[in-house]
This record gives sequence, C-alpha cells and structure tokens, in this order.
Amino acid sequence: MSPKKSTNAERTKKWRKDNPDKVKAYADMRYKRDIKKIKKYRNDNREHRLELGDEYRKNNRQELRDWQKKYRGKEYDKVIGGERKRHDKKYFDGLKEKILERDGYKCQKCGISQKEHLLKNGRYLSIHHIDGKGSNLKKPNNSEDNLKTLCSSCHTKEHNKRRGFKVNS
Ligand SMILES: [Zn+2]
Ligand SMILES: [Zn+2]
Repeated sequence: MSPKKSTNAERTKKWRKDNPDKVKAYADMRYKRDIKKIKKYRNDNREHRLELGDEYRKNNRQELRDWQKKYRGKEYDKVIGGERKRHDKKYFDGLKEKILERDGYKCQKCGISQKEHLLKNGRYLSIHHIDGKGSNLKKPNNSEDNLKTLCSSCHTKEHNKRRGFKVNS
C-alpha cells in the first residue's frame, strides 16, 4: 500500500462508497432543494464535512463569506427554493424525468449509470440541451430530441467546446 496521504477527492469517494444511503438521501435533498433537511443533514454529518471542507475553505475564504452574506437565513431559503422550481419549468418543461427514463438513466456519451454517478459525484446526472442554448435563451428549445442525459464531466466538456454557454443546463 502506498504511504501517500490520501487526497480530499479520494477520501470523499471512499466515504461515498461506505455510505451509499446517505449519498442518495443527500442527492435527493439537493434535487428537491429541501433546505430544512439539507441543514439537518449537514449538522448530523458535521465531522465528515468539516474534514473534507478544510482545504476548500482555506482556498475560498472570501468567496464563502460573500455567499453566506448574500444567502443567509430566510433569504437563502427564498432564493434557492424558488429558483429550483423556476429553473425546472423554464429549462426543461418538466421533461427531466422522462428524458432520463428514455436514456436508461445513463450518460449518453460515456455510459456511466445514475448509481455510479451518485457515488462518484454525489449528485444526479444532468440533462443537456443539444443546441447548447439551455441557459442563453428566454425560452430554450425543450423538444425531446434537443435534450439528452449527460454526466458531470461529459457535460462540462460539451459546454467547453462552445465557450460562452453556461454549464448547468
Ligand atoms: Zn459521461
Ligand atoms: Zn448542457
């Protein structure tokens, strides 16, 4: 065995492997933007989160401070809760689940499954607008043949090819 100290990413991956139920529960909360449960989960799993977050916090202090200032308390609930609902309706016309089912819950580029993706990234597969204009139009083209399932890394690559378009749609 290598004596090398494990990185944050490796520790996260191992933790996810050891706690598949927690991973799924947390991804569900994030998906539904269930702020109360997310807060409770974070409290209950403080040790793990503190350990993993140390390095990130050290490198992103100002950014985190700004974020907290902006989204503290009720303001945060209001902004995020409303945002998710608007986002789903605006960008996917409520078709997300249907597209996932059509695509067999797999990334259409590399084939990673929803379950593996959850382990690797702690979040669900995304739906991508093939024309690359998911977040740049007031009314994106949400026809089924313009939507496909991608994993986080294939999604990022896809958008990097078309600089200027945002990644999360
Ligand atoms: Zn992929
Ligand atoms: Zn996309």
